[in-house]
Amino acid sequence: MQRRRFLKQSLAGSVLLGCGTQTMAREPRAVSSGGTSSEPLRTCGVTEPNIEGPFFRARAPFRGREGSPHDASLLGEGMRGRAMHLRGIVRDTDCRPVAGAMIEVWHADHDGAYDNDGFDFRARLRTADDGRYRLHTIVPGHYRVGDGFRPAHIHAKIHVPGRPVLTTQLYFPDDPYNESDPFIRASLIMNTTSSAEGLLAEFDFTA
Ligand code: FE
Repeated sequence: MQRRRFLKQSLAGSVLLGCGTQTMAREPRAVSSGGTSSEPLRTCGVTEPNIEGPFFRARAPFRGREGSPHDASLLGEGMRGRAMHLRGIVRDTDCRPVAGAMIEVWHADHDGAYDNDGFDFRARLRTADDGRYRLHTIVPGHYRVGDGFRPAHIHAKIHVPGRPVLTTQLYFPDDPYNESDPFIRASLIMNTTSSAEGLLAEFDFTA
């Protein structure tokens, strides 16, 4: 009897789990006798929002490399700055990767200036079937706000169908202005490592 119930739960679990890489991370919830649960097995907290700021421009171009909208490059001729390569996954609140989620990114150039006439350092991306995205750009510069400077940051909007748009910003560890910035949140600091190709950064969104 016990064994049969265990098998039943395992099967129910595998149907609900659906996608490969998340399976190991989930623990099936105990099912009360005779009942089935449609609740998710695990929930992911939504990424902390952060202010939009004054420089957002809608309808930036898709800049997918080789026609892949999940792998975008903002790099162009004559752009100065340290190369950075950001990658990550967009998940929903059930922790499932979201295919085809739209990401809008915008950031300042090496000197801390936004392109408010054109679309330099602005793009839209779409996540791949496994929820992944990649962005190739430069580390943004600092810009003055009031008496101080904002730490380097990348603005982002995440559009997951059926969910409110998530507007947030990503920050860099060890930026000299992190400590004085009123907007930065610890949960929005990317994981970074240096490499010969530039800075490698990772950030997963939940929206
Ligand atoms: Fe900004």
